[in-house]
Amino acid sequence: SETVERHEFGAEVGRLLDLVVHALYSDREIFLRELVANAADAMDRRRFEALTDAASVLPPDAKVRIVPDKAARTLTITDAGLGMSKQDLAQNLGTIARSGTRAFSQSLNETRPAETKTGEDGQDPRPSLIGQFGVGFYSAFMVADRVSVTSRRAGAEEAWTWASEGQGSYTLERAERAEPGTDIVLHLKADADEYLEPYRLDHVVRKWADFITVPIALVQDGKEEAANQGTALWRKPKSEITPELYEGLYRQVGMNFDKPWATLHWRAEGQLEFTALLFVPGAKPFQAFEAERESKVRLHVRRMFITDEANLLPSWLRFVQGVVDTEDLPLNVSREMLQATPVLARIRRAVTGRVLSELTSRAKDGADYAAFWENFGPVLKEGIYEDHERRSEIAPLLRFRSSAVEGWTSLPDYVARMKDGQEAIYYLVADDADALARSPQLEGFRARGLEVLLLSDHVDAFWPDSLSRFEDKPLRSVTQGGLDLSKFAPDGEAGEAPAGIDALVAALKAALAADVSDVRATDRLVDSAVVLSASGSGPDLQMQRLLRRAGR
Ligand code: ADP
Repeated sequence: SETVERHEFGAEVGRLLDLVVHALYSDREIFLRELVANAADAMDRRRFEALTDAASVLPPDAKVRIVPDKAARTLTITDAGLGMSKQDLAQNLGTIARSGTRAFSQSLNETRPAETKTGEDGQDPRPSLIGQFGVGFYSAFMVADRVSVTSRRAGAEEAWTWASEGQGSYTLERAERAEPGTDIVLHLKADADEYLEPYRLDHVVRKWADFITVPIALVQDGKEEAANQGTALWRKPKSEITPELYEGLYRQVGMNFDKPWATLHWRAEGQLEFTALLFVPGAKPFQAFEAERESKVRLHVRRMFITDEANLLPSWLRFVQGVVDTEDLPLNVSREMLQATPVLARIRRAVTGRVLSELTSRAKDGADYAAFWENFGPVLKEGIYEDHERRSEIAPLLRFRSSAVEGWTSLPDYVARMKDGQEAIYYLVADDADALARSPQLEGFRARGLEVLLLSDHVDAFWPDSLSRFEDKPLRSVTQGGLDLSKFAPDGEAGEAPAGIDALVAALKAALAADVSDVRATDRLVDSAVVLSASGSGPDLQMQRLLRRAGR
């Protein structure tokens, strides 16, 4: 039937709209970036689908068009992308199926205007949160009091219009559209006149349009003017790229708002030809990358975007963002082929090596490296047990708290400080750093001037066993029994074993026989009376705790 269907938004959409419109009001020009990015993305997706489905082939002059209409007070963003079916419209624009949304509203609440810190460039950092949480489309309601989206899915005949005033409900009705793609029509608010002015639109789009490889045109009086060259920034010579341009691309590819900690841009020539432009973020992204364990570095073939699911970097470098563009794959490379091709494996190896050597060189500056380590150290540690081949390169990059020094220290530094006769590298793992510093497990080591590395990250229960040695020194958990400290004299007077200790041990053993495998007198304690210890060969205490929690 040809009727208009009315639907209520999911409760979360309502809340979100309120936040987007009110809390994110400053710097609202970013709505245009969000909508054009969606349009360009839809064109990329259509091109990718066309590899296996002829119905999706993009027309040769496919563009994103930005069309202001002063008379009608509308701004239209049109694309020749993949389009949306009726169901896609309802799902993508009517509900929020993302767990990121709750985190998004939380982080907004945490940065209410009163406490808001301004970003380094003096701008309120909140607006950029929109993109990070994938609520980009709704930012249209910052400037429009009515938005209508007419779309036709590639491969389908029918078109549908989604429309809403951003107030609790939306409508869906049949529409006409000659070709696949999407038109987003913004009926601008009274105070959003500026987005009808071509010079203003041009200014906004140029800030980031060059990072988008799909052509974008601004339409004025029926004439189209290119707003970008569609050149991929990474293909330009380094000498032509300013730090601002790099940052712009960084913000675009990762939806980041900070400055990159590292920018790596190089071209590999010879056996393997590719250009890479990679960034290590300067801040931890809000989106928990714990859940998303795969690298999202984008693969392009001769500038054309292919996929961000090629695992161009191992998961323990998943915080790295950016683009790899190669000549060595055919444009119509399929997903199956991507899995199998040795080219990708070679690129992966080269890119991983380059990132590690960058980290190695930046690690020489302790303060600079600490900024990186505090964001991504726990992720890098995963490489120790996931990547045997790279283990020896990763180990010196690790940083630790220690019982002996302030701040961060490394394995090579620990080894350099080892006492005469000390054979092992000692470490202690616990859930939190404060508990570590107070642990009775440390007493005997402190008294003997033996340094202990203090580990409190989630992954710390796992990697020391995989590394097992560093520079030929075994890693030993101080909670494992069988550590003999007798050859090191404790500071102060040497304690004689008190009289009657054997009788006490025997009594405790009898009383606790059901719960412990042994009770021993120890020289590892100074102030405390007792300490739990794991057996010399089994898992250490932290690992036992984890196994118990996992119900083993
Ligand atoms: P995100 O882009 O982060 O996924 P958005 O709220 O901006 O979040 O968009 C939601 C979804 O709507 C997109 O993931 C996409 O599937 C769809 N969408 C938005 N704009 C378009 C468009 N122009 N063409 C096709 N699909 C679109």
